[in-house]
Amino acid sequence: MKETVSEFALIQRYFAALTPPSSSVELGIGDDCALLRVPSDHSLAVSIDTQVEGVHFPIAAEAEQIGSRVACCALSDLAAMGATPLWATLALTLPNADAAWLEAFSRGLGTVLKRFNIALVGGDTTQGPLVITLQVHGAVAPTKALRRSGAKVGDIIYVTGFLGDGAAGLAFLQGQLPLDAAAAAYVSERFYAPEPQLHAGQAIADIASSAIDISDGLLADLTHITSASGVGAQINVEQLPLNPLWARSLTQEQAQHWALTGGDDYQLCFTLSPSQQAPIQAHAIGVITHEQKLVCLRDGQPVVLNQGGYEHFN
Ligand code: ADP
Ligand code: MG
Repeated sequence: MKETVSEFALIQRYFAALTPPSSSVELGIGDDCALLRVPSDHSLAVSIDTQVEGVHFPIAAEAEQIGSRVACCALSDLAAMGATPLWATLALTLPNADAAWLEAFSRGLGTVLKRFNIALVGGDTTQGPLVITLQVHGAVAPTKALRRSGAKVGDIIYVTGFLGDGAAGLAFLQGQLPLDAAAAAYVSERFYAPEPQLHAGQAIADIASSAIDISDGLLADLTHITSASGVGAQINVEQLPLNPLWARSLTQEQAQHWALTGGDDYQLCFTLSPSQQAPIQAHAIGVITHEQKLVCLRDGQPVVLNQGGYEHFN
């Protein structure tokens, strides 16, 4: 029989240990509120992310994988703002308090939080279908925060890492993309532990004119930049960075399509004046234009796209 634990014991056993002593935490898990110290002269950057079983991760996902994915995805928003992460709070809705599941989940979550020096300072635990919400809090100097609204005509559009990894990962996990062992391990890791681009975000915070993290697909997310900035964009699809590990299993057009419209990449897309050098490794993929629309070019010819990024309620 599975071991189950009471709510109080559950919090003590699996989550209280994720609050290491920190000068920014006056009071962590255990009281009605946490008491936190925001570094002086900084804005508090706050973002919240919910993951629903069967929607954001497959029902077959392992608890440790779910824990790491929740943390990585939530932190990606702080990265896209150029913020330094400090604290997290966790709202956990569970069908039952299964000790083995909780142990693995807190290990997956805790490993990522520890790596980025983030304290879990509170949360809420309820019974119901598996839904996990993580709020993350960080600090950023107000003048450095990377907004979506600053892109200028002529700015170069960059992305970090590879695109399409998240779509390839999901297709593989759903049994729709046969891959060899090395490619399978790579895309599964990218799906369950997409590296939050925190260092990249902080490195470009001084100089990028706009930034966003790619969670719903490059086209959908770049459109948020162009709309907020009142500009358009032109993308050269040949310049999209694709990992050959999975891309060689598809036609080039299919792979490019995933890079443009697939979600779950959690890379950063940012814009930089052409007079600036990117201070991190990033791929230039296009340019900000005056005409307020998004154009993709292949061999200089416009590409017709039949599908946007992922949207709920469609
Ligand atoms: P309250 O009833 O005052 O909201 P709870 O009994 O729900 O308090 O929670 C007790 C303490 O445990 C609080 O400090 C809360 O932040 C923390 N907590 C509850 N659930 C979690 C969780 N899943 N992860 C981290 N901390 C939690
Ligand atoms: Mg209370």
